[in-house]
Amino acid sequence: MIAVSALRKSFGQNVVLHDVSLDVPQGGVTALIGPSGSGKSTLLRCINLLERPDGGSLRVDRTVLDFDRVGRKSALPARALAEIRAEAGMVFQSFNLFPHMSVIENVASGPIYVRRIPRATAMERARALLDRVGLAHRADASPAMLSGGQKQRVAIARALAMDPRIMLFDEATSALDPALVGEVLSIMRTLADDGMTMIVVTHEMAFARDVADEVVFMADGYVVERGAARQVIEAPNEARTKEFLRHFH
Ligand code: ATP
Ligand code: MG
Repeated sequence: MIAVSALRKSFGQNVVLHDVSLDVPQGGVTALIGPSGSGKSTLLRCINLLERPDGGSLRVDRTVLDFDRVGRKSALPARALAEIRAEAGMVFQSFNLFPHMSVIENVASGPIYVRRIPRATAMERARALLDRVGLAHRADASPAMLSGGQKQRVAIARALAMDPRIMLFDEATSALDPALVGEVLSIMRTLADDGMTMIVVTHEMAFARDVADEVVFMADGYVVERGAARQVIEAPNEARTKEFLRHFH
């Protein structure tokens, strides 16, 4: 589960997150939508601690970080930091695969070099994950030989190889040709059906409506509206949500 409470983040004078709160129960899927610059990526990056929040608190499963209590000048407790980073898998818009490694080595490298799992075990596990994303037959290919959709499926397998408790997707399909979006969304949907706890930043409104439990609409660093996925997408209450969703019809 993920519990974000009154999270604040500024870059200089620019307040990017204003006391944002968000709860995703175990196995829940939240879609995060909103215009460019609303703080969606920053929120995800705060949840996996690629960015350090200025205040508020964050809980991922049993690990809690209270940024108000730690104070802005002190280092975050190393153990909680490591735990949360290990528990959160992230998939970005740009696939960021290692170009000099084969597909299967991309998937196995985290377990081998970070987790110190024996190579044979990690490779076996990586093969099973590639099978899960439909790419077992491309295990020995170079990433450069893959389509964008295939690269993104490898990126998902690579994140899953670290055994995350939660998965964060930041516009995972935005860089893809329209014809390749479906294969990646279908993997994400399967992951959701299998009970993964997920936050998905997306512009795919049909996916948000059909796969997410809750949709959260952000604008200017505020949560403007949240609710059951179908309700927010099909019958939003707030004027800003309506205006935003008009672009997708
Ligand atoms: P998009 O839909 O374009 O991806 P977003 O909702 O993900 O937008 P963010 O990337 O979180 O928005 O950006 C929110 C605000 O924070 C923007 O004003 C952006 O310029 C600012 N910002 C983000 N990262 C940084 C950074 N590292 N340094 C300074 N400002 C930043
Ligand atoms: Mg973004």
